[in-house]
Amino acid sequence: MSNREVMEYDVVIVGGGPSGLSTAIKLKQLKSDLNVCLLEKASEIGAHILSGNVFETRALDELIPNWKELNSPIKTKVSKEKFLFLGKTKSLSWPTWLLPKVQQNHNNYIISLANLCRWLAEQAEALGVEIFPGFPASEILYNDNGSVKGIVTQDMGLDKDGNKKDSFESGMELHAKVTVFAEGCRGHLGKQLIKKFELDKGKNPQQYGIGFKEIWEISEKNHEEGLVMQ
Ligand SMILES: Cc1cc2nc3c(=O)[nH]c(=O)nc-3n(C[C@H](O)[C@H](O)[C@H](O)COP(=O)(O)OP(=O)(O)OC[C@H]3O[C@@H](n4cnc5c(N)ncnc54)[C@H](O)[C@@H]3O)c2cc1C
Repeated sequence: MSNREVMEYDVVIVGGGPSGLSTAIKLKQLKSDLNVCLLEKASEIGAHILSGNVFETRALDELIPNWKELNSPIKTKVSKEKFLFLGKTKSLSWPTWLLPKVQQNHNNYIISLANLCRWLAEQAEALGVEIFPGFPASEILYNDNGSVKGIVTQDMGLDKDGNKKDSFESGMELHAKVTVFAEGCRGHLGKQLIKKFELDKGKNPQQYGIGFKEIWEISEKNHEEGLVMQ
């Protein structure tokens, strides 16, 4: 029997990225009296989100149809796009109308995904979602029948060897009827769930690619608002 503090919710969501926040908003839109809480391991929503992003608004149009009236951080529409093959000394431009639809960006927006998450968090809080930034979910709890009971948040105040410091605070147990894991790809709790419930049985193995993002500071005269270059 643990002596951790226990909090009960209808739904606990692990992860404050676009998927966790959208889930929280949708649940409250469907049933406003649900008790929904969302945990984010970063110190604030958006702090662990890759920033620069070309954004297709279809999902947001469905979730929050009046997003344009709600001071969202989605402002810069793609006005020009280029697709370039880079050679050693020259680049070759390819007509974008010849690209497959998924690579065409007109009608999309250039945004900061971190800012979008911050704004989604405001929308979620306005609907009554309790958001706890700075609280990583570190362990999954199970009911006697094997179903997921909730999670435990990480103990705070341990030194690098795992010894308790004066500031030690034991993690909390959050119990829920439904726990949603929205940790992003390769979340450590997600990996445990995939193994325990054999969610990958008979499925194609997951594939990962490594992507690099660089933020370049460029001279203002080279900046062209609305330009996407691939
Ligand atoms: C290099 C790169 C470029 C991309 N560019 C684009 C683009 O231009 N346009 C586009 O639409 N998409 C783009 N994407 C994809 C997009 O970033 C993802 O699809 C999206 O972020 C997935 O959202 P998510 O909420 O599932 O996960 P994530 O965005 O990964 O969010 C997960 C959140 O959960 C938190 N978390 C994780 N584990 C825990 C835990 N145990 N406890 C508490 N919190 C936890 C994390 O801190 C994070 O905030 C790009 C991705 C990459 C890697």
